[in-house]
Amino acid sequence: MDAKTDARTDSSAQRRRQVLERIARACRESGRSPAAVELLAVSKQQPAAALRAQHALGQRAFGENRLQEALTKQDELADLELTWHFIGPVQSNKTRDIAARFDWVQSVDREKILRRLGAQRPEAKPPLMICLQVNIDEEPQKAGASPAAVTDLAALCRDLPRLCLRGLMCLPARQEDADDTRDSFQRVAALAATLRHEGHEIDTLSMGMSADLEPAIACGSTMVRVGTDLFGPRTQR
Ligand SMILES: *Cc1c(COP(=O)(O)O)cnc(C)c1O
Repeated sequence: MDAKTDARTDSSAQRRRQVLERIARACRESGRSPAAVELLAVSKQQPAAALRAQHALGQRAFGENRLQEALTKQDELADLELTWHFIGPVQSNKTRDIAARFDWVQSVDREKILRRLGAQRPEAKPPLMICLQVNIDEEPQKAGASPAAVTDLAALCRDLPRLCLRGLMCLPARQEDADDTRDSFQRVAALAATLRHEGHEIDTLSMGMSADLEPAIACGSTMVRVGTDLFGPRTQR
């Protein structure tokens, strides 16, 4: 190992330890088991070597938001057993590759995309895991289904056997006040409870990132998506 690789391994391990400690502390403070919250490593704009370093430290689940960048890294890391989550905007002309090359899609927000993923998921693979992205603060420029549209999208998943609805994902509005972020997370949790009442066996609340994983965990997050605090600043584009 050269000095540069060594340094990368050290800082990766240190950042990872700090993120896992934050998750554990947030779980403790809300009386939850740390095993109840999964860490998704958001590796967008990070080189394959950075993912390899996190894999060596035990990380298996990685999130990417651009298809072409993700496919290149998947090829570079084909020797590792990783779980790939697509977390970026899904365009219709990208669904075939996404359905074939990812294990999860967390950013589904409309019927057309659900139907295409359901039709295009290869038979040889297990069903594609789905989270519906909710635009919880109903911000006009933001991706995500409106909270009112989520019930119908969840019902549609039932009719698509190649998809498995796992839960909801959100990216709340950036708030000055942490209490407002917490309020957004609570509304997503309430929406998930409604879906459970409607008979959906969902187990995933994907919420919380580097800046707000603590309030997300306090509100019931089961998956935090951490990029910057795990990998350092994003570089590659
Ligand atoms: C980039 C991104 C993240 C991670 O953000 P950080 O602030 O770097 O932790 C999480 N979720 C989504 C959907 C993202 O695009």
